[in-house]
Amino acid sequence: MATRAPLSPRMRGAGAPRPQLPAQPQARLADTAQASGPGLPAVLWRRYLAFGLAAMLGFELMPKGIGSDIVYVLVGASCVGAIVAGVVLHRPARRAPWLFMAAGQALWVIGDAVDSWFKDVEHLDVYPSPADAFYLAAYPLLAVGLLLLIRGGRPKRDLAGLLDSFTLTAGLGVLSWVLLARPTLNAAHYSAVAAAVEVAYPAADILLVGVLIRLVMTSGGRTTAFRLLLGAVALLIAGDTMYAALGIWTTSGTSSYEAIWLASYVAWGTAAAHPTMARLSKPPTVDADSRFTRARLLALGAAVLVAPATLALEQVAGASLDVWPVIVGSVIVFLLVIMRMKVVISQIVAGNRDRDVLQSRLAYQAAHDALTNLPNRTQAMEAIKAALNRAQRTGSLCGLLFIDLDGFKAVNDSYGHATGDEVLRVTASRLQAAARSGDVVSRLGGDEFVVVLETLSAETEALQIAKRLIERLSAPMVVGAVRRVRIGASVGMAISQDGSTDADRLLHEADTAVYLAKAAGRGRVEVFDESLRREFAEQHLVQEAIRLAIERDELRVHYQPVIGVGSGIVIGFEALVRWERPGHGLMPPDNFIPTAEHSALICDIDCWVLQHATAQMALWHQQHRRQRPMQVAVNISRRHISAPRVVQDVQSALAMSGLPPESLILEITETMLDDDLLATEHCEQLRAIGVRVSMDDWGTGYNSLARLQRLPVDIIKIDRSFLDTTQKSNRVLLELMIHAAHAFGLPVVVEGVEHQQQLELLRTFGCEAAQGYLLSRPMTVEDAGAFLDTRSGAVTVTT
Ligand code: C2E
Ligand code: CA
Ligand code: CA
Repeated sequence: MATRAPLSPRMRGAGAPRPQLPAQPQARLADTAQASGPGLPAVLWRRYLAFGLAAMLGFELMPKGIGSDIVYVLVGASCVGAIVAGVVLHRPARRAPWLFMAAGQALWVIGDAVDSWFKDVEHLDVYPSPADAFYLAAYPLLAVGLLLLIRGGRPKRDLAGLLDSFTLTAGLGVLSWVLLARPTLNAAHYSAVAAAVEVAYPAADILLVGVLIRLVMTSGGRTTAFRLLLGAVALLIAGDTMYAALGIWTTSGTSSYEAIWLASYVAWGTAAAHPTMARLSKPPTVDADSRFTRARLLALGAAVLVAPATLALEQVAGASLDVWPVIVGSVIVFLLVIMRMKVVISQIVAGNRDRDVLQSRLAYQAAHDALTNLPNRTQAMEAIKAALNRAQRTGSLCGLLFIDLDGFKAVNDSYGHATGDEVLRVTASRLQAAARSGDVVSRLGGDEFVVVLETLSAETEALQIAKRLIERLSAPMVVGAVRRVRIGASVGMAISQDGSTDADRLLHEADTAVYLAKAAGRGRVEVFDESLRREFAEQHLVQEAIRLAIERDELRVHYQPVIGVGSGIVIGFEALVRWERPGHGLMPPDNFIPTAEHSALICDIDCWVLQHATAQMALWHQQHRRQRPMQVAVNISRRHISAPRVVQDVQSALAMSGLPPESLILEITETMLDDDLLATEHCEQLRAIGVRVSMDDWGTGYNSLARLQRLPVDIIKIDRSFLDTTQKSNRVLLELMIHAAHAFGLPVVVEGVEHQQQLELLRTFGCEAAQGYLLSRPMTVEDAGAFLDTRSGAVTVTT
């Protein structure tokens, strides 16, 4: 290997002596900045690049000497100027990284100038020269600047990325030693200082390589400024490496590396002048990524293999072995790999922990009510099932309390949902406080809660707990710091001995019990006990039988005539259902209608009667043509009038029978219209198609006479209790009611007329129609037909 004249790695070829240093770049820059008009931040980088490229061309074309050296120093200085201008014009969030870089570049420019001075003016060839001090001092400044830039771009400490770049740097360090530093040292005999300087350059370059690797691995926006900066650092390292390599393997003083260094200056300056430089110092939106990408794995694998591969190659080539550098490099890489493994393992552990936490949070959310933090319906069902299972094993008593708040809707309506939510939270905590420890309190939804009671000594114990809950919940609540709210609670209780029932059934029973508690006046406990269970079982059987009765056509309609009080003529009939139940005889409606009313079955019965009664009346219309056709009155139950199907049921009965709507009267009771907008709406729809609505059992509800005006009815049917004339007050009331109805233009029917004097009274009061045993009992369809035939419609009533 050719011996080489001691040369500072950054020194350029010798030239003619030069008397002067180039002009100060800062001065030039200040001019540029002052001359900046609008748009300068956008065009700065282009102008600078053009200047840089022109200067590089000039440098290449000029004969080497003081002139080219001045151009060289000028380009370096312009790079410093461009960085400062970039900071001023683009206002990056953090200026420090760029100022460090400017300082580093400035040191290089000084180094260049000092070097040129020695060469061109003093004509001295010293090594190491003072210029080397400036050159070497520049590397750490640049590295710090670049590292600050990277740190600014990483919101979190990226230990894995740091270790990876150390590993790569260590690998390259071994290479650099083997390929560059040691051959350089071997090539000449240096003084200790010169040797130190000689080794310091590749070491400094390795520092920059490490920084370059970090830059490449940094996630975040790949802006133009970022790419230019990468290029600038890469060019610098390339220039240095080329210089060192040429120094080792050639003797001729070639200066092609100078062009590379110049290009590095220009690229660095252009990066700082580019508007995107401002974004480089802001944290990226994309999180730093420390996963092993394929490229990263390849690079790391190569770095780890550098040391053994070097030894192997040297062994094969028969060259002297770099044992110690390779050992040191291997140990460093080995330690780094171990640390990297630790990072990966702790990342996996942390990931698993996060996943576990997330999973248990999700499981909690799925099982709990978000508002009160109590177990939700799903969880409540699980708790009931588990309690029943345990009760079955131990043969013990297990209870379920179903709590439904009284007056909660009013709180929600008058104070708003925020207060309502607060009331529910307070309710939840009061329930938990009042229950025994171990009792599971859950929220089913809305204002419904359940408490599962296990290990009960007796039913009375459950009853005591239920009463305690009601008492606690009825105490005034202070919500929202100032507002005092009072609610109450009704409790339904279901008990299972030895877990012989299932969870759905127990919940259903407790639900039924709370419904009964509410119906019985609220603020109380109702127990779903054995007798109730039997009652419900019977009810279920009866409902099944009624269903079959409809199918098998066991229902009958009996007809009771309604007579005109003045004329004595049959003006119509009330249709009354009977059940010809095999083995039971003819059952009156009171024996099965109330049971049917617990389900939609009642609608089917009403519908059946509607069809038969309208068809029968249409037939009588054909047989008895009259000036004023007869009417048939059909009773409609509460559930049916509230159901949307009622309008359809009536319409199809009319359509099938051909009966004119005016001949059909629907009897409903007053309370059916209380707070029931649907019932009222359906009545209006039916009246609109010509059907008339009669107010049945008038006088038995809490009615006010004034209300008559607003009710959607056409006829008033006064209850028979007002005919009990043994009480004188009834007589007065009856008269008042008839007159009130008339005042609102409503005709009156009085039912339950059993005595002649009652009929007389009605006549005196001007009542239109009467119905009762005096006139006729309800009759089978045949008897009613015969009644019409024989009396030809007129009922003779002796006066
Ligand atoms: P309601 O609508 O008040 O029917 C009048 C009831 O009073 C009938 O009893 C009738 O037989 C009875 N009655 C008639 N005149 C007299 C009298 O002078 N003295 C006495 N003490 N009673 C008299 P019924 O037929 O047993 O019906 C009882 C109830 O069953 C009816 O009361 C009605 O609410 C209901 N009902 C009957 N048929 C149907 C129906 O088809 N559908 C619905 N939903 N309910 C019906
Ligand atoms: Ca009736
Ligand atoms: Ca009635």
